[in-house]
Amino acid sequence: MKLLEQRILQEGQVRPGNVLKVDCFLNHQLDVELLDQIGVEFHRIFKDDGINKILTIEASGIAIACMTARHFNVPVVFAKKAKSKNIDGDVYTSKVHSYTYGRDYDITLAKKFLTPSDKVLILDDFLANGKAMKGLLDICKQSGCTVGGIGICIEKGFQPGGDELRAAGYKLASLAIVSEMSDTGLTFREQED
Ligand code: 5GP
Repeated sequence: MKLLEQRILQEGQVRPGNVLKVDCFLNHQLDVELLDQIGVEFHRIFKDDGINKILTIEASGIAIACMTARHFNVPVVFAKKAKSKNIDGDVYTSKVHSYTYGRDYDITLAKKFLTPSDKVLILDDFLANGKAMKGLLDICKQSGCTVGGIGICIEKGFQPGGDELRAAGYKLASLAIVSEMSDTGLTFREQED
């Protein structure tokens, strides 16, 4: 998506540890017009896949998921990072290793919000090593729902998450795939529409 690539080139900042900061428009301050265009694009790609729910992870995925859900007219459900009590066994849980914070955390999702009758589109802001996505896929597996697709705003193509998911057969769409980045610049993988 050229519009997103342009914004990354204009405002993205490369930080030590291969971290790309895009907090001016994507995951701290939010450019709602850009997010709306991102929603339009995800809808164009996944509109024929029978999606009846959008799944994401707090916090950065929520705005992207909501703006996309408006085009599908479906609900959004997000996995929580804060520990929820699981006294009645009423939540799915999975463990995720955080790329940006370098530690493990649990994600939880109430069982009543994801069932075998659901076909979900999973959305997130970044895909790097794929750990967050694996946690979400694990929760999908526990629930018995179907994964209709995975949409990512920015994939870091020099890390293995994206190619592993493609090899596993998922319909994965990344709106921008960074192939290389350094203090001096950043390049994108060419993609077909
Ligand atoms: P993964 O689990 O695929 O290694 O990393 C994905 C998660 O880590 C995303 O949910 C995102 O929040 C965070 N993340 C990974 N790489 C970056 C990055 O370069 N910049 C930012 N802002 N977040 C990242």
